[in-house]
Amino acid sequence: MTDKMLKFVKIGQQTPPKRGTEVRKKDFNEIYDEFIGDKAKEQSSRCSQCGVPFCQVHCPLSNNIPDWLKLTAEGRLKEAYELSQSTNNMPEVCGRICPQDRLCEGNCVIEQSGHGTVTIGSMEKYITDNAWERGWVKPIDVINEKDQSVGIIGAGPAGLAAAEQLRKNGYKITVYDRYDRAGGLLIYGIPNFKLEKEVVERRTRLLKDGGIEFVQNFEVGKDATLDQLRKKHDAILIATGVYKAREVELPGNDLNNIFPAMDFLTASNKKGLGDKVEMFDKGILNAEGKDVVVIGGGDTAMDCVRTSIRQKAKSVKCLYRRDKENMPGSAREVANAEEEGVKFVWLTSPKEFKGTNKVERLIVDQIKLGEPDESGRRRPEVQQGSDYEVKADMVIKALGFDPEDLPKLFDSKELQITKWGTIKTDFDTMETNLKGVFAAGDIVRGASLVVWAIKDGRDAALAIKTHLENNEIKTSKVA
Ligand SMILES: Cc1cc2nc3c(=O)[nH]c(=O)nc-3n(C[C@H](O)[C@H](O)[C@H](O)COP(=O)(O)OP(=O)(O)OC[C@H]3O[C@@H](n4cnc5c(N)ncnc54)[C@H](O)[C@@H]3O)c2cc1C
Ligand code: SF4
Repeated sequence: MTDKMLKFVKIGQQTPPKRGTEVRKKDFNEIYDEFIGDKAKEQSSRCSQCGVPFCQVHCPLSNNIPDWLKLTAEGRLKEAYELSQSTNNMPEVCGRICPQDRLCEGNCVIEQSGHGTVTIGSMEKYITDNAWERGWVKPIDVINEKDQSVGIIGAGPAGLAAAEQLRKNGYKITVYDRYDRAGGLLIYGIPNFKLEKEVVERRTRLLKDGGIEFVQNFEVGKDATLDQLRKKHDAILIATGVYKAREVELPGNDLNNIFPAMDFLTASNKKGLGDKVEMFDKGILNAEGKDVVVIGGGDTAMDCVRTSIRQKAKSVKCLYRRDKENMPGSAREVANAEEEGVKFVWLTSPKEFKGTNKVERLIVDQIKLGEPDESGRRRPEVQQGSDYEVKADMVIKALGFDPEDLPKLFDSKELQITKWGTIKTDFDTMETNLKGVFAAGDIVRGASLVVWAIKDGRDAALAIKTHLENNEIKTSKVA
């Protein structure tokens, strides 16, 4: 059989039509189209296979992008999926929410040459969604069950990626989380319009089907101490994320209708999941018909403004103290928000909240950018006498997150942290100063990205595996 004929068999899994007939070409295209949509075909074929895969280098997971694009262009979608999932525990999630303009796509050679990037994220999403539809995504099938167990605190992307990798190696895994649903910020932080909740929930179900135990509504520090969990498991991974909202201490801060971003986003996500949310139903944590002001310029702020638009706010303004070029949020997200009707008020900082009981307006200062500070960014400086009023009946503060005081919360004062409050780990082993206790994700890096949390979870799983294997050898020697 010739190579071409073999290809027909692979794509269509059926006997190729006879050579030299009209029907032959038509059938090939039909088979091809059945396997791969027109857009995916067009996009994957655009990859120039340049040989210097900057896209791959700039993907935190070093995804083998050129190869899975090539397989997709050839209609070999199952192989593309197998390759894609071999480096990423949630390709369909990253495909949807990675800031690709800062990572893979921003570094695509075609983008650099001015012809527009290959839409790598959409392709990654397409390949894995297609795999789910076709039943190619299967629960973990453990061949070699082990006696050792790992307790994972936190069911966000870092905890879930580590759980999957360790379970594949046969360890018994229990994931503890203080929320009622697994997923961390994937479920209650990131809005549904960016990441459909069913996409997260089907992943959790898959992990459960693979034998991972989930203990929800279980807060470490309240329902058990870290020491108690250490006694129960052979190793522990802390993957609790960062949740302490940064504050703006301004006059009028205690007025009603001023909310931290997570309260607003969690209420909206819970509502989308069909939960009863009293504060939303009563119109309190709900932007409908209101003049909303969001303070902040990161991705969380973008999620708040775009959620407010979807809740049919009367107007939505985003106040940011630097200019557009210096916004920390993804440029694509800012463009999306602008397109949807959000008004950005650059170089502006809130000075005071005004109102009777409820917030009614903000007094804001205009800012100019001065000399660079120690971080290298130009320092925002208030322009004296430039203040003015902005109308608002709902204010959302999205100024970023810091870690909670984990040593105190976990009743484990000896757990070492950095000066930023993140957990201090050995750079190579990801182990904390407590033997057999590892840490990964935002609680180590500070607020970051899902793709980095997955990478950390995978690395931590590898480190825990090595630790457990060493322990096993020691124990068997003693025995
Ligand atoms: C609003 C918002 C939007 C974002 N948008 C994006 C985006 O578009 N793209 C992107 O890449 N990144 C985005 N991020 C960042 C991304 O969500 C995080 O970097 C990522 O989720 C971190 O993963 P993690 O597993 O470390 O922590 P998390 O996802 O925060 O998960 C931690 C889990 O630990 C649990 N936990 C905490 N303390 C305890 C305890 N004491 N006991 C038991 N359980 C506990 C929590 O309930 C939570 O489920 C966004 C973040 C926010 C806040
Ligand atoms: S994981 Fe993120 S950075 Fe990596 S290829 Fe996918 S979308 Fe790009």
